[in-house]
Amino acid sequence: MPLNKQTVLITAGPTWEAIDPVRGLTNRSSGKMGYAIATQAVAMGAEVILVSGPTCLVCPSRVRRIGIESAQQMYDAVHQNLAGVDIFIGVAAVADYSPVSVVKEKIKKSANRMTLELVKTPDILSSVGQLQSNRPYTVGFAAETDNVLAYARGKLEAKTLDMIAANDVSQAGLGFGSDQNQLYVLTDDDTQDLGVGSKALLAQLLLEMIAMNVRAH
Ligand code: C5P
Repeated sequence: MPLNKQTVLITAGPTWEAIDPVRGLTNRSSGKMGYAIATQAVAMGAEVILVSGPTCLVCPSRVRRIGIESAQQMYDAVHQNLAGVDIFIGVAAVADYSPVSVVKEKIKKSANRMTLELVKTPDILSSVGQLQSNRPYTVGFAAETDNVLAYARGKLEAKTLDMIAANDVSQAGLGFGSDQNQLYVLTDDDTQDLGVGSKALLAQLLLEMIAMNVRAH
């Protein structure tokens, strides 16, 4: 049980940034990678908290799921549940921007054009990576369409992470919505190609690397 006595907090899925009561901004994340990691972490002996955006997935057994909608709610849920967390894995596809304000009533169709003002959301992963005390071992994900390794290494440094898992989302049949993925795992001094595999297998390989690095940490 390589993750025995470890508490792992995982973010998963998309976020939903409301525009009005019936509309919002979201993305194509299915949540499958984050849920596969949660399932595998339990199998490896960890206690798991899953902060999840809206998905169609069933909560894996023995996982404590906290359902949220927006990036701000995900940020709040993560920081309210960080006490005692040994490993943080940010898998969620968090919206980068959110409407400045939510319109209370359904917006009616009138003018030919309309402008939606957006504001940047808080970077949850980076806020955990930059904690000065009680900082968990911090792992991020980077979905890229080009220069995958270079952008991922930049994010590892910019967000002060211990590890980042990167994948090329431009490849058909891999990544978003699929049961298959392809991952590179980068740390300060190492880059490993985990290859193509099911999200369940890649979750296991990633968690084994995390467990090994946490022991050496
Ligand atoms: O900067 P970018 O969005 O590409 O970084 C992706 C990583 O950062 C993922 O691990 C994602 O969960 C995390 N992230 C976050 N909060 C944001 C944006 C991204 O935690 N607002």
